[in-house]
Amino acid sequence: MLSMRTSFVHYLFPLLLVTLICGGCEQADSHSHTPASGSSQQFSGNYPMKIVCTIGQVAEMVKRIGGKHVQVEQLMGPGVDPHLYRPIASDVRKLAEADAIFYNGLHLEGRMSDLFVQMARRKATFAVTEGLQTRNDSRLREPPEFAGMFDPHVWHDVALWADCVRDVAEFLAKFDSSNANQYTINATVYIVELTQLDEFCQTEIAKIPENRRILITAHDAFGYFGKAYGLEVYGLKGISTEEEKDVVHQEEIQKLIIERNIPAVFVESAVSHRTVEALIEPCRASGHDLKLGGELYADALGPAETDQSTYTGMIRHNVQTIVTALSVE
Ligand SMILES: [Zn+2]
Repeated sequence: MLSMRTSFVHYLFPLLLVTLICGGCEQADSHSHTPASGSSQQFSGNYPMKIVCTIGQVAEMVKRIGGKHVQVEQLMGPGVDPHLYRPIASDVRKLAEADAIFYNGLHLEGRMSDLFVQMARRKATFAVTEGLQTRNDSRLREPPEFAGMFDPHVWHDVALWADCVRDVAEFLAKFDSSNANQYTINATVYIVELTQLDEFCQTEIAKIPENRRILITAHDAFGYFGKAYGLEVYGLKGISTEEEKDVVHQEEIQKLIIERNIPAVFVESAVSHRTVEALIEPCRASGHDLKLGGELYADALGPAETDQSTYTGMIRHNVQTIVTALSVE
């Protein structure tokens, strides 16, 4: 239980600070799917543009497209769970001083939603998934258990993420029109890489025997991955890690593992490993030798200096880990 003082410092203080910085900003509407983007803003400062991003996947996208014209600050590092992340006072200052802000959206950064709404009223603030929503993209998942909202984990479908790259390039080209051509070229190079990555995912997952293409992880982050590459997906927790694990749901998953002879389950880098490890003993007690298939990067990139510290490396690592663990005889 948080003390009054702790909860003030961690939660209310940043909001109070942004209210002071924003002056007469209107009250945020936390019910809207995505805040207004402030897309009419034009950059007029000195290069490199100061850009603040939330998760590593978004930061990498903006760095790749913006190149030498941007200096990117990332708020959520390796191992940080974006669903639970509360902005601290220094984050609010960084956001207030940025030339532009990029975040995932679709309520991934659930505890920062109000802050983004307020920022969007005074500066270029863009949810990279905004275009998918605006176009009403049929690939967006709307799981019934997520209260009428879209599943935010779109980066696990590489082709869908490539569309977000196009949208970010378009946004940057409008925001800083003098370098529009460069942003388009950089995005095109990145998208070629992502197209190859998408093909890699298709080819590799197809190597798993069909009856073993079942992915069980800590939380329901891999819905897009499963839909794009042909796996059934189950998470012990829901779309947000904020949800408590449901004991009945866990027992259903254990039953499924035994009935369908699933060889392995997977822990996630930003969620307590205990969530998934709890499946092992009951399955073994029932005579099924369930193994831990390895660690997947669901919501955050891997540590610096590792292959998984890039988006491409993260996806490749996940695919190779899944294929290895589920293909064993
Ligand atoms: Zn998640």
